[in-house]
Amino acid sequence: MTEKNQEKHKARQQKVKENVDQKVAQANIEQGIFQVITGNGKGKSTSGFGTVARCVGHGMKAAVVQFIKGNWECGERNLLEKAGVPFAVMKTGFTWETQNRETDTQAAQATWLHAKEWLKDESIDLILLDELTYMVSYDYLDLDEVIEAIENRPKMQSVIITGRGAHRRLTELADTVSEVKNIKHAFEAGVKAQKGFDF
Ligand code: ATP
Ligand code: MG
Repeated sequence: MTEKNQEKHKARQQKVKENVDQKVAQANIEQGIFQVITGNGKGKSTSGFGTVARCVGHGMKAAVVQFIKGNWECGERNLLEKAGVPFAVMKTGFTWETQNRETDTQAAQATWLHAKEWLKDESIDLILLDELTYMVSYDYLDLDEVIEAIENRPKMQSVIITGRGAHRRLTELADTVSEVKNIKHAFEAGVKAQKGFDF
């Protein structure tokens, strides 16, 4: 790099730094964050669990509610339960294969009761509501009730909802919304879901 380029680079970086410093100085609100992670690409639940790990790593308290029971055991659950993270998992009922609306609704509601309790508990810093979006899409849970519980949660508590097709009212209420876009997925090329990677 020539001396002139070096100078230019330095000036540019200085400007970037000033902009960032200004934004950091302006962001002075302390509150729990409500995040929605949606979209068709892979990485929604793993992102949610990543934040749970981050929270627990600081000695803070997290809880996980899983609204879809997959066919595979959950690697994150095996790890995080050992670290004291409580899990509420929809035991019977909804997987992609179920066809019984009544039992699915009952299972979703029973699981939601755990979420509702935790959403009132000030000692819990973060709640992951994994795959909740489908419960709303299928009308297994009442959207008004979900929104009310999130709105009235303790001020410093953060909440993450994952799942495709997040309802607009959820994304509107959220502070942070990320959409994971599918570019391609190994499954489309015939690769089976891999233990330790996909579950
Ligand atoms: P992950 O749990 O890996 O972060 P996700 O939460 O974004 O994935 P879900 O829609 O909950 O995705 O689906 C869970 C399972 O489906 C995972 O095994 C994941 O690898 C797989 N999956 C996710 N996206 C796709 C896709 N676009 N095509 C095929 N399979 C997918
Ligand atoms: Mg998921």
